[in-house]
Amino acid sequence: MEAGGCRYQFRIALLGDAAVGKTSLLRRYVAGAPGILEPEPELESVPTVGVEFYSRTLQLRAGPRVKLQLWDTAGQERFRCITRSFYRNVVGVLLVFDVTNRKSFEHIQDWHQEVMATQGPDKVIFLLVGHKSDLQSTRCVSAQEAEELAASLGMAFMETSAKNNCNVDLAFNTLTDAIQQAL
Ligand code: GDP
Ligand code: MG
Repeated sequence: MEAGGCRYQFRIALLGDAAVGKTSLLRRYVAGAPGILEPEPELESVPTVGVEFYSRTLQLRAGPRVKLQLWDTAGQERFRCITRSFYRNVVGVLLVFDVTNRKSFEHIQDWHQEVMATQGPDKVIFLLVGHKSDLQSTRCVSAQEAEELAASLGMAFMETSAKNNCNVDLAFNTLTDAIQQAL
């Protein structure tokens, strides 16, 4: 599809538990510089349900330019009340957990299942992301078990840090290349 001089437009979503670092990862990728977000204050009321999206154009290794529409949840992941429309036309998903948060890793299968249950006719390409890789001293999910989970779900695994800007571009590029190859 033609979009702003781009041959393709891919809709990509970031999913995972609250506070794993999805928004920081996305902003790091889109803006490069701003780095990690300040901690959010505790929520006292139900936040506005909404989504945010960012876009970035990039040149695929295979040649064509592609516009990425990158969708982020805006607090709804806390309550597991992401609407079906969030998943509409999504072709790629970054499933993000925090390597220092065991629960966020255990919930990855739930997020995966939710996408599988709501996806349309198009095949969705996933990438498992172990985020906050800069926090090695407090990590509690090993790379090996994450690799095993990814393999069992048929996806690749990668570790990222928005703080150190480690593998941020690589994660999005890997997902985008895989989407393009599956077209
Ligand atoms: P979201 O709820 O998944 O969107 O997570 P946020 O992007 O709001 O980040 C949650 C918290 O994790 C914030 O306090 C961020 O500063 C912190 N954070 C995000 N990315 C990183 C990272 O790569 N390393 C470290 N150490 N902290 C991070
Ligand atoms: Mg967020």
